[in-house]
Amino acid sequence: RSSAISVAPMLTKLQEDCATPLPVLRHVADSMSDDIRAGLAVEGGSDLKMILSYVDSLPTGNEKGLFYALDLGGTNFRVLRVQLGGKEERVIDTEFEQVSIPQELMFATSEELFDFIASVLANFAQREGGKFHLPPGRKREIGFTFSFPVKQTSIDSGILMKWTKGFAVSGTPGKDVVACLNEAMDRKGLDMRVSALVNDTVGTLAGARYWDDDVLVAVILGTGTNACYVERMDAIPKLQGQFSPSDRTIVNLEWGAFSKGLPLTVFDRDMDAASINPGEQIFEKTISGMYLGEIARRALLNMAEEGALFGDNVPKKLSTPFLLGTPHLSTMQQDSTYDLQTVGSILYDVAGIDSDLNSRKIVLEVCDTFVKRAGRLAGAGIVGILQKIEEDTKGTVFGKRTVVAMDGGLYERYPQYRQYLTEAVTELLGPEKSQNVVIEHSKDGSGIGAALLAATNSKYD
Ligand code: ADP
Repeated sequence: RSSAISVAPMLTKLQEDCATPLPVLRHVADSMSDDIRAGLAVEGGSDLKMILSYVDSLPTGNEKGLFYALDLGGTNFRVLRVQLGGKEERVIDTEFEQVSIPQELMFATSEELFDFIASVLANFAQREGGKFHLPPGRKREIGFTFSFPVKQTSIDSGILMKWTKGFAVSGTPGKDVVACLNEAMDRKGLDMRVSALVNDTVGTLAGARYWDDDVLVAVILGTGTNACYVERMDAIPKLQGQFSPSDRTIVNLEWGAFSKGLPLTVFDRDMDAASINPGEQIFEKTISGMYLGEIARRALLNMAEEGALFGDNVPKKLSTPFLLGTPHLSTMQQDSTYDLQTVGSILYDVAGIDSDLNSRKIVLEVCDTFVKRAGRLAGAGIVGILQKIEEDTKGTVFGKRTVVAMDGGLYERYPQYRQYLTEAVTELLGPEKSQNVVIEHSKDGSGIGAALLAATNSKYD
């Protein structure tokens, strides 16, 4: 077969189009800093919404009692309870349950989706026992993690601006999602109350901060992506002096909407055009888990059609949108057999493709090209946040230990992605500054974090 020969120039072109040398990374980091500033200055001032979280007291470790958390963020829905014992005992016990969102509910009505959530919660709350107990006269309080763009109106209310990550539930945009949940709980006769509505990045930051005072930034890389950080209130001009008692607050970037300076290919543009939100969430579409497999599929299909990557015939199934998932890319990239057996069997099982060693190697190169671009751009985004804070308050970021709390299935389960991300941060910051920046996996911090924020914002203290 001659596939490798005709495909080689296509691969080279792809790698050039996706390249992220230092100047590209620097431009992305600087644009991220500029967009942060512009979004803090006025409402609608940039691609970044810079949403105020109304979280201005972070967990200290002194929190006590029983708290619940709900997490609706993407493919999964989680419920959790935690019994907190203060500085000495910390987390006495925690239990959680995870269910996947039935596909049809992602396109259902708002009532149907929230009824489902309330019934899972009711079921879970019924099985409370053991070390979990609620003082008499109190309702069970919930931290509600809702990881879609919400215009927060207080710590326990917020209007959904739009669905992302493939959700298209009718009737919710423009509504208060806490009210939606309360109404569903009423319909189920469930007597609990939401004390804090939090974005998953905000929950991750709170959960990580509970254990480590040096946490300043949190980033989620899962189905979608987002970031938040601790900002000084006097650095937020759009607050127009309406400060709360605390001098610091968490700001949610909604960084999936970032779009400047990204090296994009025809495959990105075609995928975007075919998406339910064309022209939106460009950073998310370039770096998050929902899309990496699909971008790679489009590039491979093109190579099969125009470069005979898999021989004379174009594999039929390869035309199916979202046939390849990011977990497939990750599994293929972990293949260490000399003849790339895992790559071969994934191509065969998923797409019905018979491949030879040459084409498998090219498939791996294509995956690596997109994952490298994604990881490095995510790293540049992180540096953009850090350098913005450092510019305002010299020495408080790079002059001491600073922790970036990371979470999400993509970060957790794609070693190459993680490595590319870390390398980009180190390249951008240089050896000295990067020694002070700790990029740390905060496993499932967001669930506990939301429960902690229900505690710090309890109606009873
Ligand atoms: P969500 O973001 O849906 O709330 P997660 O943080 O668990 O939930 O992220 C799930 C996403 O992580 C998946 O959509 C997928 O893109 C990515 N992912 C899951 N498993 C793997 C894997 N083995 N390798 C790479 N990415 C993965």
